[in-house]
Amino acid sequence: MNNDTPKIKCDFIVVGAGPAGIMAAIAAAKRGLSVIVLERNGMIGRKLRITGKGRCNITNNCDFDTLIENIPGNGRFLYSALRSFDNFDVIDFFNNAGLKTVDERGGRIFPASQKASDVAEILKNEAKKYGVSVRYGMKVKELMTEENDGIKAVCGVVCEENDMRFYSQNVLIATGGKSYPLTGSSGDGYIWAEKIGHTIVTPKPSLCALECSEKWISELEGLSLKNVVFKLCDGNGKQLFSDFGEMLFTNKGVSGPIVLSSSRFAALNDFKKLTAYIDFKPALSIDKLEERLIRDFEKYNKKQISNAFCDLLPSRLIPIVIKCTGLNPCDKVYTITKVQRRTIAEILKNFKLHIKGSAPFSEAIITMGGIKTSEINPKSMESKLCKGLYFAGEVIDVDGYTGGFNLTIAFSTGHAAGMNIKKTV
Ligand SMILES: Cc1cc2nc3c(=O)[nH]c(=O)nc-3n(C[C@H](O)[C@H](O)[C@H](O)COP(=O)(O)OP(=O)(O)OC[C@H]3O[C@@H](n4cnc5c(N)ncnc54)[C@H](O)[C@@H]3O)c2cc1C
Repeated sequence: MNNDTPKIKCDFIVVGAGPAGIMAAIAAAKRGLSVIVLERNGMIGRKLRITGKGRCNITNNCDFDTLIENIPGNGRFLYSALRSFDNFDVIDFFNNAGLKTVDERGGRIFPASQKASDVAEILKNEAKKYGVSVRYGMKVKELMTEENDGIKAVCGVVCEENDMRFYSQNVLIATGGKSYPLTGSSGDGYIWAEKIGHTIVTPKPSLCALECSEKWISELEGLSLKNVVFKLCDGNGKQLFSDFGEMLFTNKGVSGPIVLSSSRFAALNDFKKLTAYIDFKPALSIDKLEERLIRDFEKYNKKQISNAFCDLLPSRLIPIVIKCTGLNPCDKVYTITKVQRRTIAEILKNFKLHIKGSAPFSEAIITMGGIKTSEINPKSMESKLCKGLYFAGEVIDVDGYTGGFNLTIAFSTGHAAGMNIKKTV
């Protein structure tokens, strides 16, 4: 850039055209502010377009307390932002912008068209309607800051493209976390924030599959189970997580809704000596299950043990369960002793897996960790360390369960930032 090039100035620069950044840009532009969004990709919401298996679970229609409960990673930090723009405001925003939505199981809200791309296009149209300038192919490489009377303040950003500079006294970092980095979210925001003095709570993959040490695990790949309880315990046997629902086996471990929810607790414990237990028959007490085994064993009395569980378990699970009991599958059912029967019941109620790690960032739905919440004003999302610098979305150390809660976080924090920017040019 030579000295004659005019300075590009605006009220508000947003880095990242994900749901958080675009919502912030729209909120500020609606208030008459000049807004520039800088996005490294060639489109708005590249990750948003693959959410909810291409259907986008926009938000959830639950009550406020349930909303907070479903944000186990610093949900309380979001009280103020969610009070001023909650899940119902998210639904209204999209409905008013022309996107019909439908409610599904568990209060999950989806676009009626079942197309995540429609959600992204609505955001794009709203941004255009209010005069937001979105600059694509602009990878921001650093923030510009200055010091006035000992107070650090942001004054703009520098892009990789020809070192292009954009000037503003308000800059929002909405660069997302580190998961699915091919969508553009590779963790740049953490680096800039750390340079300014922010604490970064170590980012870890979350809402992701878990890997197990059991050598036979790949034999169960693709097997899904409904109505089971999945429990996670630390090395001292302390229960970290327990939930009822669906799960599935992968070639390296376990996945599916209840496992995804458990993954943040596994990551928080750094995978140290973690054990998972599956209760295949949560509706039955151990005594009731034993009674059921007695009936089944009588029915298949003269058959081989390998045939004794066909009424009770999915066929692919049977050889593995028998292996864990130490019984010989070729022995006759009538050879099973009372003690062995009790052991089988115990195994079916507490099927043990050793958890050794999680799927990588490239396969994790979200990133837990990020900019420490105590260093951010919860009402405005402004940095407490640098005037005019704001954060929104997954870059902050907040995270929710599946069910539309992570997009709600992005929309709500983005909206809070956009509503609190002051006109400067
Ligand atoms: C497969 C998958 C499915 C999901 N499904 C759901 C769902 O159904 N419901 C739900 O609630 N959540 C879902 N999520 C989570 C949700 O997508 C994220 O929490 C949300 O997108 C975070 O929004 P964000 O705006 O903070 O960040 P992102 O959506 O990650 O957007 C960040 C943007 O910043 C840009 N950027 C990054 N660095 C730079 C830079 N240096 N310069 C310029 N631009 C930059 C990126 O290109 C990107 O466009 C899903 C996630 C995945 C991966």
